[in-house]
Amino acid sequence: MRILVFSILSGTCFAKLFVGYSSDHTKGRENLKRTDMSFERCKVGITSTIPVEVIFAAGDVPIDLNNLFISSPEREKYIEISHEEGFPQSSCAWIKGIFGAVLHSGDIRRVVGVVRGDCSGTEILLQALERHGVEFIPFAYPFPRNAQGLFDEIKKFCVRLGTGIQDAVEWYRKLRSVREKIARIDSMCWRENLVTGLENHLWLVSGSDFCSDPEQFSRKADEFIEEARKRTPLNRRLDIRFAREIRLAYVGVPPIDTDIFQLAERMGGRFVFHETQRQFSMIPALEKGENTELYWDIRDITENIEGFDNDIADFESFLAQYLLYTYPYSLSERIADINAQCQLRQIDGIVHYVQSFCYRNMEDVIFSRELKFPFITVECDCPGRVGAQAKLRIENFIQVLGENVRD
Ligand code: SF4
Repeated sequence: MRILVFSILSGTCFAKLFVGYSSDHTKGRENLKRTDMSFERCKVGITSTIPVEVIFAAGDVPIDLNNLFISSPEREKYIEISHEEGFPQSSCAWIKGIFGAVLHSGDIRRVVGVVRGDCSGTEILLQALERHGVEFIPFAYPFPRNAQGLFDEIKKFCVRLGTGIQDAVEWYRKLRSVREKIARIDSMCWRENLVTGLENHLWLVSGSDFCSDPEQFSRKADEFIEEARKRTPLNRRLDIRFAREIRLAYVGVPPIDTDIFQLAERMGGRFVFHETQRQFSMIPALEKGENTELYWDIRDITENIEGFDNDIADFESFLAQYLLYTYPYSLSERIADINAQCQLRQIDGIVHYVQSFCYRNMEDVIFSRELKFPFITVECDCPGRVGAQAKLRIENFIQVLGENVRD
């Protein structure tokens, strides 16, 4: 599997960090243990962010199918495969791309699909893949958000993959330090102005599966941080034609046209807040720490659970991480997070990205009324470059914001 950052940033200094990060980068992980050796160690596709600790605990290799699709030079072909299968032109390109990518891969025989809390099209996608011999595992975030429902779902997931919660919690501990590095990169984007909007986006979305290899991912993150520390702050670049750089927030599903980030920078803006991407990387849980209301709910479970002994605090943090993840739950939690982060990061304006034919586009009705910052919506359809209309909207937005800022 090639990772997102590798192909999209090819040719930039960032890409150098991933030289050698090839389809063979999962080798060397054969020592991972699993509790049930009746399964073969295999690649497990994921349609969205799930408790990835469970896949690592099972000794399998997670592959974020969104990243697999969008980072491939053959992504148009994947969409074509879906059209040949009968997917309508008027359906989401992300779903079609994932479907085509799995079929084309030939070696992803098991897919975990988030059937509650992500996408209304996932159930159909999973059933379409099943026709081609791909085993699917549904994962449902509970609605409304509650610890018991999430715990039950993670337990089912563990059983399905032949592992246990204790092993997953051990992986939670291991991954925490890697997630802290992603949080550091995010901070270097908005606080120190050393990281571009695209770089931050790619690191954040890659936190869903750690590019299948957390150790290598962690090393590359260290190298990137070291390199970025030496840069001249981006807000001091000379081609900004306003009193200062315009600070933008990105809200909505990840873009199918990632040039949206570079586009903004060419126009004098920069995305310094990536709402869903930050959620995918689980940074909010790292930053929030103890949340008594949530922990109270979790403690109803921990009082009745056996076998954790000294690890109970990590077990609670593991569950809390996926309860603090706002994306699968209610819009009010997302709105509170967006408004708070926009204030903290001194955002000038919000761009709400919507994907053609996505049911989440209706979130615009609420976002446009509840978000407390200047706001526009742009829509894109297929991978490639941002279309002329969306480009014009972003350009006008930055221009208007730029004419009204002071240094
Ligand atoms: S963009 Fe919308 S329809 Fe498409 S995969 Fe994402 S949630 Fe589903």
